[in-house]
Order: sequence, then C-alpha cells, then structure tokens
Amino acid sequence: MIERRYYGEFGGAYIPEILVSTFEQLVAAFNDAKADPDFWKEYENIMATYSCRPTPLTFAENLTKHFKGPRFYIKREDLNHTGAHKTNNVMGQGLLVKRMGKSRVIAETGAGQHGVATATMAAKFGLSCTIYMGEVDVARQRPNVFWMERLGAHVLPVRDGTRILKDAINEALRDWTTNMDDTHYVLGTACGAHPYPEMVSYFQSIIGQEARMQILDREGKLPSRIYACVGGGSNALGIFSGFFDEPVELVGVEAGGKGLDTGQHASRLASNNGTPGVAQGYKTYFLQNREGQMKETHSVAAGLDYVGVSPILASLREEGKVRFEAATDREVLDAFSLTVEKEGLIPALESSHAFAQAFKEANELGEGDIILINQSGRGDKDIFTIADAFCDPQWRKFIQKKAEEYGA
Ligand SMILES: *Cc1c(COP(=O)(O)O)cnc(C)c1O
Repeated sequence: MIERRYYGEFGGAYIPEILVSTFEQLVAAFNDAKADPDFWKEYENIMATYSCRPTPLTFAENLTKHFKGPRFYIKREDLNHTGAHKTNNVMGQGLLVKRMGKSRVIAETGAGQHGVATATMAAKFGLSCTIYMGEVDVARQRPNVFWMERLGAHVLPVRDGTRILKDAINEALRDWTTNMDDTHYVLGTACGAHPYPEMVSYFQSIIGQEARMQILDREGKLPSRIYACVGGGSNALGIFSGFFDEPVELVGVEAGGKGLDTGQHASRLASNNGTPGVAQGYKTYFLQNREGQMKETHSVAAGLDYVGVSPILASLREEGKVRFEAATDREVLDAFSLTVEKEGLIPALESSHAFAQAFKEANELGEGDIILINQSGRGDKDIFTIADAFCDPQWRKFIQKKAEEYGA
C-alpha cells in the first residue's frame, strides 16, 4: 500500500500506476533517514561545510530606525551556496539519492534557480543530471542555462504546451517513468505528490530551527510576526516550522503581480482566486477556471510565478495558523529599494515580497515587538528586471547586450 499523506483535505499522492513502486522506495528511504540520528548530523555537516550554515540573523538597525517601531531581524538564506534556500532542499535530496544507490537526477526548472542548485548538487555528489526547462524559459534565463551546462548538466528545452514551467514538470515526469531504476526526481518546492511536500519542508526546517535559537539568544524572546514569501511554499514552511504552536503570527506573502483585480498575479491563498483541485500529483488550491484548466500567472519574481501551492500551507490556512497576504510588483520594487538603500542588503525579488508586506504593516506593532523576515535569496539574478524598472534605457541596452554575449 502506498502512503498518501493528507494535510486536512489537501495533499495525497495522485500518481500513475507505473510510478507507485518508485514512490514506495522514496518514502521508505526518507522514513528510514528521518529515523536515523546520524542522517540529520550528516546533513548539518554538509550544509555547514558546503553552504555556510548556520546562516546569520542580521539586525536591521536602519530599517528599525526608519519605521520607528518594531525591531527588524533578517534571516540570511541569501548567503547559502548558489544564493538561496533552494540549496537546503537539493543537498538533502542528494544525500537520499546516495542512500538509495541511484546515479542520476532529473529536475524541472522555471527561472533556472532550482536547476542550478540541482546541477551543483549533482556535481558535488558525482551524479549525472538532466534539467527540463520550457523553451521560453531557456531563452529568458540564459545565464542560468550557461551555468547548468558548465556544471555538467544536460539542459533539455521543452517545446510542448506553452513551453514554460508546468510543461517542464510534465516532461520530467515522463522521463522518470522510463528511467525509474537509476533516476531520482529532485522536486524544487513543497508541492507535488507525497512524500515531496513533507520531505522538502523537512530539509527546509533547518531555517526555522536556527532562527528560533538565534532570536532567543539575541533578544531573549520570540518575534511577534514572521514574514516569508510564498511560491510553492518551501522557504515559508522552513522558517515557520520553528515557531508552530507559539504566540507568533506567521504571514505568508504571495505575488500580487499587477493587482489582485487584474487577473495578473499568482495569489492562490490570499485572495479568493484559488480553488481546490487535483493536478500534478496532489490536491491543493490552484488558479484554475471552472473547467479545471490552469490559468496564466504573473509576477515580477519568477520564483513565485506558479499556479499551485504547498498542500501543507493550504491546510494551515484552513486551520487559521498562517495568514496570507499579497504584495504587488510595485510595492515589491519599492521595498527592494528601501532595503538596499537602508541596509546594503540585496534581497531577491521573491524575498522582497516578504519585506514589502512587513513594511506595510510595521506601524501596527510597537517598540517592544520583533519582526523577523526571511530573506530567501539574493537579488543578483534579478539585475535585468530591476534595471528595467529603475534604470535608463541606455544602460538597459548595454547590460542586455552583455547578457547575450555571456550566454552565447
Ligand atoms: C524559488 C524561490 C522562491 C520560491 O520558492 P518557495 O518554495 O516558495 O520558497 C522564493 N525565493 C527565492 C529566492 C527563490 O529562489
């Protein structure tokens, strides 16, 4: 019997018959690893020596002065190797691949960040690696394609459908059904069929474990509120998990895009736009029409641009344990600018959603309160988008030309 874990009514494992034994093997390997105290030690050790963990907790003194109220702390996931929290997940899955004795990994990627993280892990662990990427994304994300190839991965452009992330996921699943024996599918976020939501958030829980110890050590008390951006939900679940069942308000921030009333956003939980459904192996809130056809999403941050969301977060919303909000592209760019200018930090546009919502709500809290923001990644990758938003056309042309040379 295959384990199909549900979170309230969400989650499950809706998978083709042919993959059942592969999922059973993965569930067994994961359960076995979790029960082995040496496994988490091995994980912490590789994260410490390969990815700068524990990542620091930074007191944002200038933002604190600027808002004249709560004390701001930032959890620095941007300092991980490859520039985001994604490393936590791929390195953990890499250790599981070694336990299962497999030699090849595949992954899907949209913006390319998960592809680069997976290709890096494969290089480190000596695994062969194939990355599926929509043809449109291959063109849009040339620097990431360049690095995946240098790292030794095969990047396969997907020409089906709308040639973006969801088409890449379908193609990766097709590959897996023909190469199950030696191949593991490294899913990039806390979505998909069981055990992925649980497994990915298990590895990401290292963020919350550290943050809890760090804030207690520094301030002797817990934060009043924690803000994290929500794409698939893995960095949010990672930091939130250190504070469940505490008097801490957990706020997940989705992509409000051009505004929730425009239809151009990726807000599944904060608005009433998402509806429950089953797709890509699991049940959650999707942005879909009445016939169950997936809608197009939009965000200035490619990493938040997805139609589904973690079933664990969907369930936490029903239980009232996490509040969901949305920040628009404009609010996000303003929050990004303020953070760079006041603190010298360069948050990813994804992470800037968490900053934007925290700034909007800062005056609701007083001097005795602490706000904790998860800076899920660094913004270097967003140079062209940010240049587009802020810079003059001459400079934009110059860097686009450089990017083409670099990618070619
Ligand atoms: C991919 C990505 C995200 C979104 O993924 P989650 O699974 O929701 O965390 C957020 N921030 C950064 C920097 C990313 O690269």
